[in-house]
Amino acid sequence: MNYWNEKFETMGVEEMRAFQDENLAATVAWLYERVPFYTKALDEKGVKPAYIKGVDDLSKLPFTVKTDLRDNYPLGLCAVPVNELARIHASSGTTGKPITGPYTKEDRDQWAECMARTLYAQGVRKGDVIQNAYGMGLFTGGLGFLLGAENIGCCVVPSGSGMTDRQIMLMQDLNTKALFATPSYTLTIAERAEKMGVDIRKLPLEIASCGAEPWTLEMKADIERRMGIVAHEAYGLTEMMGPGVAFSCSEGKLHINEDHILPEIVDPDTLEQLPVGEQGELVFTAIQRRAMPLLRYRTRDITRLVREKCACGRTLITMEKILGRSDDMLIISGVNIFPSQIESVILDMGDYEPLYQLRVTKKGYLDKIKVEVEAKPEFYEGGADALAQMAGKLKAKLNSVIGIGMDIEILPIGTIPRSEGKAKRVFDER
Ligand code: ADP
Ligand code: ZN
Repeated sequence: MNYWNEKFETMGVEEMRAFQDENLAATVAWLYERVPFYTKALDEKGVKPAYIKGVDDLSKLPFTVKTDLRDNYPLGLCAVPVNELARIHASSGTTGKPITGPYTKEDRDQWAECMARTLYAQGVRKGDVIQNAYGMGLFTGGLGFLLGAENIGCCVVPSGSGMTDRQIMLMQDLNTKALFATPSYTLTIAERAEKMGVDIRKLPLEIASCGAEPWTLEMKADIERRMGIVAHEAYGLTEMMGPGVAFSCSEGKLHINEDHILPEIVDPDTLEQLPVGEQGELVFTAIQRRAMPLLRYRTRDITRLVREKCACGRTLITMEKILGRSDDMLIISGVNIFPSQIESVILDMGDYEPLYQLRVTKKGYLDKIKVEVEAKPEFYEGGADALAQMAGKLKAKLNSVIGIGMDIEILPIGTIPRSEGKAKRVFDER
């Protein structure tokens, strides 16, 4: 068996479309009757639920944005009374005040389904020992991965985030097969193990399922090389259920569970829907959830959708790796840059640790960006001159790839904080 849910994961495009049409229409009707926010938003657009026949009508629907969730905190957008809820999560608040994610029991079961598809596609099987190093709590990461692994029937070690030495000890003593953690925490574990003299490549660990923050293919390659594993990817957001929205398969493609979460790409400025294949802001509509399904939720994540035949056999639509969040996009002297573009260049040099910080300041009218990095330990032996030369090379490379001058500072080993969850990389001091 290659799939957790063969029917939906390999469903023909037309059959999927019919399923989506029916569920989208039902969700709009559900919200119109129960959530005053949506009654008003739909009325303002002159849209009656009966006008929404399916996916082709998506662009008639109003958008939902993060401030709508904050303005209706804690449960103003919830379509069911609290005594029908099974759980309430809240976002980790990377970009401000938390927002809530309520689930009915059915919503939670769907989440368990989407997460089981994710982990199964990545090689996790019944009976496997898995170590769940996502933060366990309000954050959807930890308990979302737990649901999926339990649904498959794994033996779960809920190690949570942090206490890195103990993570490595558990990994050795329990023969962990799969590690679930953010990419930056996975690297923190890899680095710590190297310091402790533990060769993770020789342990039974085979798989990591990394998510919750942007990371580049260069970062993935670094994890795979240092740990001797395959680093898979999970993508999601609290507003749509948490992790389980999209997952990488054996071919490294990111499939979206589109029978649950309907994707579109819009131009972030004009809000026009863009054709499949064009880059823009990812917008999701939840079509099976009942507690708080959101219509056309603007994620602020930038990517493109790709509809192509995947060698893994799944027909679920795919998206490219997230380039970044529009909130994290830096505009430096008129040039738009995502931290992930800088990350690619740094790691591509081969001389640096996969750690960096970007510090943005303003001098008069000029924006200045400083890239703080740590070199690999062996490079410090050459002294300040050798480091200055290395920095010069990185500066020239960044200038040629991205097109703006950046200052480089190579910090002493161990200076940049090691992440235990989502790494904070941008410090905008303008
Ligand atoms: P917060 O918005 O407070 O960080 P969430 O945990 O809900 O709370 O974060 C969801 C966001 O995390 C997504 O919108 C996206 O920006 C980011 N994210 C999650 N998974 C990935 C991934 N695999 N690749 C890139 N970004 C991701
Ligand atoms: Zn695939």
